[in-house]
Amino acid sequence: MYHHGRGAAKSVRRLHLIFGLTLILAPASSLTPFGTLAMLRAPLEQARNPMQRERIADDVYVFTSERYAQVTASVIATNAGAVLIDTLVFPEETREIKQFVETRLRSQVSTIIYTHYHADHTYGAHFFPEAQVVAHARCYDLLDTRGREARAKNASGELAHVALVLPTVVFNRGVLNLRIGGKSFQLWNTPGHSMDSTVILLREDRILFAGDTLMPVPYFVDGDYFAFVASLESLRGCNFENIVQGHGEVILKGEIEEKLGSDLAYMVAIRAAVENAMTQPDPETLLKSVGIERCGKSRILLAGQVNELHQVNLRTLLRQLAQSATV
Ligand SMILES: [Zn+2]
Repeated sequence: MYHHGRGAAKSVRRLHLIFGLTLILAPASSLTPFGTLAMLRAPLEQARNPMQRERIADDVYVFTSERYAQVTASVIATNAGAVLIDTLVFPEETREIKQFVETRLRSQVSTIIYTHYHADHTYGAHFFPEAQVVAHARCYDLLDTRGREARAKNASGELAHVALVLPTVVFNRGVLNLRIGGKSFQLWNTPGHSMDSTVILLREDRILFAGDTLMPVPYFVDGDYFAFVASLESLRGCNFENIVQGHGEVILKGEIEEKLGSDLAYMVAIRAAVENAMTQPDPETLLKSVGIERCGKSRILLAGQVNELHQVNLRTLLRQLAQSATV
């Protein structure tokens, strides 16, 4: 869910964006975005910039937020305008993407594709009123319900003027093939992180835009553990050139199978930990001592925020397994 408010200290703001993930952000007046994260990711010339831009193929650019959890948005230049896959959270970030498309590419965003309905991927769409917006049908429904509820609670500060934009083109099942300005896109549903999660394959370059189906640690508090495992399995052996994650760095060809294997191993490890805890009198307390490294993932990713995601995963899986045991 989405909550936005001021922390106790005046100079620090806390932003809760992806269902409880809390990031402490530098004040807007500071030139250094988000301490450790900036040091990990930002070269010197980017230190004043809230966002990184990376060119990963001739017509493909990935924008990564330095302000919120390394969330990504991508631009694919085509002969029929630019295709924008997701938007970033803050208006200043989306404005900068828009300016890049207009001045550097001398183009306009003609199509937006949502990987899923979460705020950090959809809040910039209203900057492109002319664009068609493509997504899975479940994305439409979730944005129209949970998305609206979350939006209503967070109508202040920098995000006061954000307007939700519902998809204008949806698909229900199978693969949606889109041909836009000489480029071919394939979209399909990979539920797990959220039930509307969708991946997009740019066929000419074999680049997969994975949304939050791939991020530094799988995260399913708003989705389903078992669906997630199946979705990760389905992406193995597909010979992608690159994968753009919903958060974090672009995954290169030689790293893809290792990354998928690592995510699946993590899912197996947390299930074993939760099943073991369920045999004990107080599983919730026991799970607090199960660190992320015991489940095979580094604790430093996303500037350490993965630990928080991991703990939420354990509690969510405990709930999901307990529910399925009583059905
Ligand atoms: Zn998400």
